[in-house]
Amino acid sequence: MIRRILVTGGAGFLGSHLCERLVDDGHDVICLDNFFTSQKTNVAHLLDRPNFELIRHDITLPIYLEVDQVYNMACPAAPGHYQYNPIKTIKTSVLGSINMLGVAKRCGARILQASTSEVYGDPEVHPQVESYRGSVNPIGIRACYDEGKRVAETLFMDYHRSNNVDVRIVRIFNTYGPRMHPYDGRVVSTFIRQALAGENITIFGDGSQTRSFCYRDDLVDVIIRMMNNEDGFVGPVNIGNPVEFTIRELAEQVIQICGSGSKLVERPLPSDDPTRRRPDISLAKEKLGWEPKVPLAVGLQQTIDWFRTINVSDYRPPTP
Ligand code: NAD
Ligand code: UDP
Repeated sequence: MIRRILVTGGAGFLGSHLCERLVDDGHDVICLDNFFTSQKTNVAHLLDRPNFELIRHDITLPIYLEVDQVYNMACPAAPGHYQYNPIKTIKTSVLGSINMLGVAKRCGARILQASTSEVYGDPEVHPQVESYRGSVNPIGIRACYDEGKRVAETLFMDYHRSNNVDVRIVRIFNTYGPRMHPYDGRVVSTFIRQALAGENITIFGDGSQTRSFCYRDDLVDVIIRMMNNEDGFVGPVNIGNPVEFTIRELAEQVIQICGSGSKLVERPLPSDDPTRRRPDISLAKEKLGWEPKVPLAVGLQQTIDWFRTINVSDYRPPTP
């Protein structure tokens, strides 16, 4: 069935891949973005497709659109991006969610929230299960993102319970791939950029902290699957790749695939940096029949191939 689908943050890293897939599937897609952390080039190849429309808009302000589904992806996601203007970040999660839930309520649309593993903070439970309530420092430098996303989940569930809005919540764990902003400061994009330039690879702390990296294709698959599940399963559901790596292991893989001579250098660990992170994806397997397929080495190779094609000086830092 052809649907009218709104993707907020649709010009971003994940949003642009999602738009591309939905356009290819024949849906009428509206991409809404304020280009805070993204470039128009991410969706330029879609502009001449008759079923794609791009609107520059900030979701902290109301908008009136007629749609069947909303993917609420808008929010700066990299620590350097969301800490650049922390008040704007929390407004994007809170006011933005209220505005998009308002669209869904008015239209009777289904709405999916791109939540995050950051709702678990620096977790005491490992691997993280959905029933774990998290350990977030509410006054720390990551709180604007973590707490904003937590409030967004609350809003989604309250609109669901009080107003019958048809919601879905996915908790996304670290995801990487082509179209990551080369200066977003996230670990995969930073290490690849540094390795290709022959610069030192900046390991924060001693590099023993862990993350589990999901390739963008696996992620787009499961987000669409979650949106279209008709079993009344609203989530929240963890989505990510459960294979865990230390940051030092990631650096070594990136250097090896890039064939780079870069050296590892240690830099201070930012405050509240989670020590360990790995999703328990049992619920996604059970309810959505999903598990990731792309191993890190394969996804990294594709991401590195893409980084080789871009000119990093074309990418600007975020603007307010
Ligand atoms: P991204 O920064 O590439 O994309 C976010 C997009 O939202 C950008 O295009 C940005 O310009 C836009 N945006 C930001 N504030 C906005 C506003 N107020 N109004 C309109 N547009 C706005 O990041 P991403 O990695 O593609 O993340 C997409 C979503 O997935 C985010 O909500 C993020 O929190 C979530 N997520 C991503 C990851 C990951 O590892 N990539 C992990 C957990 C959650
Ligand atoms: N990191 C690092 N060097 C960098 C960037 C990040 O060692 O140049 C570390 C960071 O301290 C964290 C991990 O890599 O422990 C993942 O960081 P990222 O910003 O990608 O995402 P997070 O999962 O922390 O939101």
